Amino acid sequence: MRGRVYLVGAGPGAPDLLTLRAADILRRADVVFHDALVHPETLALAARAERVAVGKRSGRRSTAQQFINKRLVDAARKHAVVVRLKGGDPLLFGRAQEEIEALRRAGVDFEIVPGVTAATAAAAELGVSLTRRGVSRHITLVTPRAAEGERANEWVAAVLAADTAVLYMGAGLAPAISAELIARGMSAGTPVALVENASLPGRRALTGTLAELPALAQQIGDGPTIVLFGEVLKDALTAAEIEAVLRRA
Ligand code: SAH
Repeated sequence: MRGRVYLVGAGPGAPDLLTLRAADILRRADVVFHDALVHPETLALAARAERVAVGKRSGRRSTAQQFINKRLVDAARKHAVVVRLKGGDPLLFGRAQEEIEALRRAGVDFEIVPGVTAATAAAAELGVSLTRRGVSRHITLVTPRAAEGERANEWVAAVLAADTAVLYMGAGLAPAISAELIARGMSAGTPVALVENASLPGRRALTGTLAELPALAQQIGDGPTIVLFGEVLKDALTAAEIEAVLRRA
């Protein structure tokens, strides 16, 4: 048996932000290797599949990643439809390239199904265009987390150069991020926003300035959180408007 591995985006959290293509593949899946944060209703679509949680914990990341790569290759030798289900879009900040390379090396057929990424889900919560005409002509998606051997400070230059910057996996580092950006010349008054659990019932969105970022981050819980920087955030919905949208939902 020679199966195919599908790298599928689960979207930012809400099960109805899954693409129709992803839903179809999940229904046909024989085995699903999924991230820790995938919604139970999304997993339930894979009714006939064996479901394997492969959430990684920092500290033993590289071993875990190699183990996942190997399991994908092995599964494709046993099953027709193998799914690697990842939060958001599968190709953004999810080590997908390592999986793709392992599959290519092993000669395993694969296909990628894009998903709604956290940046666009967060912008939707904030009711703000990240590419507002006359204000922002580019968006930088960046993480302050550096892998071994990478230069840790590249993210600062990336944020400074961006009209709008969206920072993944960085909310826990908010005080250091704010201090570093201000030290490198970003205005302390730059509008920022934090969005936790975008698209989910427990969502939270806070806006303020770069100087206020550490205080804002303290009000955020331990759900996945994204941080946005730039002038476009000045026109984000107010906290009261966001609350009103949530109440209507
Ligand atoms: N592939 C994913 C990102 C994986 S990295 C995507 O495309 O969205 C994980 C980081 O994504 C988290 O640390 C957080 O910064 C962000 N994130 C994921 N889901 C989120 C959500 N529902 N709300 C806010 N941020 C989220």
